Amino acid sequence: MISFFIFLSVFLFMECITWLTHKYIMHGLMWYFHADHHQPKYEHTFERNDIFFLIFAIPSIVLFYFGVQGGMNYLFFIALGITTYGFCYFMIHDVLIHQRFKWFKKTKNKYLVGLRKAHKMHHKHLGKQDGECFGMLFVPFKYYKI
Ligand SMILES: [Zn+2]
Ligand SMILES: [Zn+2]
Ligand SMILES: [Zn+2]
Repeated sequence: MISFFIFLSVFLFMECITWLTHKYIMHGLMWYFHADHHQPKYEHTFERNDIFFLIFAIPSIVLFYFGVQGGMNYLFFIALGITTYGFCYFMIHDVLIHQRFKWFKKTKNKYLVGLRKAHKMHHKHLGKQDGECFGMLFVPFKYYKI
């Protein structure tokens, strides 16, 4: 039970980390890697933006490694939370919204349509500076109203 609680908190916490990273790092110091992603006609086969998946993969691998030392410990569930979030992020941002892989046909799910609208708003801003909707799984409620 406590493991599940750790997993869930990490998962939710990752949304905050993503928001902060996106707002202050991707649109800040590391804009070089994220700029491509804001080009309107960009082909999403491989993006410089993908480096951010690697950056989040490293702590997860380390945590998994130490999380299975002497039986499973809480580090394992922290790693699981980060990895699961990364997977959801990829499925929503890269597959569902940007259609890098055509795995899903157009969805009618209100939540998913809202997420997509919010992220499209984010992409309306082509520059580094101003922007909105830096999160991924939590977006302002106004986007859910069609
Ligand atoms: Zn952005
Ligand atoms: Zn993309
Ligand atoms: Zn995007």
